[in-house]
Amino acid sequence: MIPKDNLILIKNIQIYSEDRFIENGYIIMKNKKIIEVGVLSDLENDQDYQIIEVPSGFIAVPGFIDVHIHGVNGADTMDATKEALDTMASALPKEGTTSFLATTITQERKEIEKALINAGEYMKTQADQGKAEVLGIHLEGPFVNAKRAGAQPVHHIIDPNVSFLKEWLALSNHSIKLVTLAPEQPNGLEMVRYLKENGIIASIGHSDATYEQVVEAIEAGANHVTHLFNQMKGLHHREPGVVGAAFLHDELKAEIIADGVHVRPEMVKLAYQQKQREGLILITDSMRAKCLKNGTYDLGGQEVTVKDGKAVLEDGTLAGSILKLGQAFKNILNYTGCSIEDAIQMASVNPAKQLNIYDRKGSIAKGKDADIVILDHNREIFMTICRGEVAFHKEDDIK
Ligand SMILES: [Zn+2]
Repeated sequence: MIPKDNLILIKNIQIYSEDRFIENGYIIMKNKKIIEVGVLSDLENDQDYQIIEVPSGFIAVPGFIDVHIHGVNGADTMDATKEALDTMASALPKEGTTSFLATTITQERKEIEKALINAGEYMKTQADQGKAEVLGIHLEGPFVNAKRAGAQPVHHIIDPNVSFLKEWLALSNHSIKLVTLAPEQPNGLEMVRYLKENGIIASIGHSDATYEQVVEAIEAGANHVTHLFNQMKGLHHREPGVVGAAFLHDELKAEIIADGVHVRPEMVKLAYQQKQREGLILITDSMRAKCLKNGTYDLGGQEVTVKDGKAVLEDGTLAGSILKLGQAFKNILNYTGCSIEDAIQMASVNPAKQLNIYDRKGSIAKGKDADIVILDHNREIFMTICRGEVAFHKEDDIK
């Protein structure tokens, strides 16, 4: 018999597995992986399982993957400390996030470099269970367009510069997986081509590109759009801009902040109708104030005030969000009327495929990392399992 603790069993649960919905199923995990998913009546009871009890009617969905998150619970990627990333990795399971890209912001070169070195180092030694996994870095800026800066500090914005990028890749131990840039800026297309050649996602964002400029960027290898609608040309009938290009080109996967504040619910629905479930990726773009009280916080050296569910700069510009990915999951269901399967596609499958890690994350299937979220009847997070270890349990949280 296999010794206890080695086999972990969740049973009597509805499972949204990779290839089917199971009404009353079970999942067996071992050594951080899912080793079996099936119908409960097929479970062989001859093993000594460690059982995770779940109330009836709850559902299991794959862990959410946030490809755009700056901070949470007082910590930010730009703090450039092990503690900051650890705080993020520990806090995120509470919202159903089991892996993420630590996201930087436009800053002085040395500040960005510190954050890159720190994240690269952190990834080498991060806990392999029980916390969200840092999958890499999302470099947001500084290669963006000052006209669409938003909360990116304008005076630190620079033109795309491939030699900087090469140095940064080395400093980060090659953990930069996604770069948000404005392809219409000088050397922008050169950078897109370089990213494409090196297997890094080139994302159009904080960009004033015209439709034609976006098409050129797609031809050069761009395949992603950073927070659709926010900080880009809107949809105009004589200038489709980044939004129109995103709607028309399936090559582009579009991030969306589905909080009802950065994008109002009707526009989330419009984007969903255009991009369909394959084309959208739910993100939070959240900042350190998430999970903290209303008040004043730092974002890239700027003061951000958080009140009434919004985070704004002094001049009223929307800064990062305080959205939780579990809430975005619920919101997309409400705003669009999509199914749970559709929401899973946007919260877990698409980001995993875009990052080229769908062989190990993004769905509940045999052989994949045991990254699982259990939702209650109201689709609130009840439990989050990160690589086979319970990282959040609502009942513990209440105590
Ligand atoms: Zn951001």
